[in-house]
Amino acid sequence: MDIMRREIAICTRMLVEVGILEYSGHISSRLPSGDEFLIQPVDDVRSALEPSRLLVVGLDGAVIEGEGKPPSETAIHAEIYKARPDVKAVAHFHHDPTTMLSMVRNRPWVPMKNHASRWPEGVPIHHDASHISSVEQGQELARTLGDANAALLRGHGEVVVAEGVKALFSDIVHFVENASAISSAALLGEIEPLTSEDLEKFQATFNREKHSRKLWAYYTVTAANKGAIPVDWLDD
Ligand SMILES: [Zn+2]
Repeated sequence: MDIMRREIAICTRMLVEVGILEYSGHISSRLPSGDEFLIQPVDDVRSALEPSRLLVVGLDGAVIEGEGKPPSETAIHAEIYKARPDVKAVAHFHHDPTTMLSMVRNRPWVPMKNHASRWPEGVPIHHDASHISSVEQGQELARTLGDANAALLRGHGEVVVAEGVKALFSDIVHFVENASAISSAALLGEIEPLTSEDLEKFQATFNREKHSRKLWAYYTVTAANKGAIPVDWLDD
């Protein structure tokens, strides 16, 4: 089975398992050709996504291969891939406890936990709260994202980008974990975000690839034990 297809299916199913994805939201990954990506059909159930069902879609949003319609918000993925050649995987999801940080004045997403060093400056908020269904809206979102690695969509959801699906999964886990740390800490008192010096110190000894692999192993085995993914999809 194609490794990239399997990784997207595993990532999608695991995100449902940990309560980050539900009936909507999607993960994509850029194919080696550079101008095509894999994304699931709009109506396929996230918790039962099959690798063989993934569609090959061009950067114009047209389906090149596969059966079914791509998600209505496919422009999010296509326009980010166009604007960011470094991005190889994109996630769009609607995680309410995280989205809440786009709804409160003077309570921005700021780095609280050391793994938030992926987003040292915090993350931008995209103010268009509607569905991103046109090319123009996708381009606007890509402009909001700029060179950041995540954005909040006001009253709507999140976008997280990375260099591959395993790294993307790890980033999503840490992104929502940091959002919940902000909310929990704010209940206790005035929050004290990590400084750029704290984050640089953490980054100096942090091996991103090794960490993503460790996190992937933990979540895939746990998901397989619960029957959320087939055991024969696990890495050798
Ligand atoms: Zn959405």
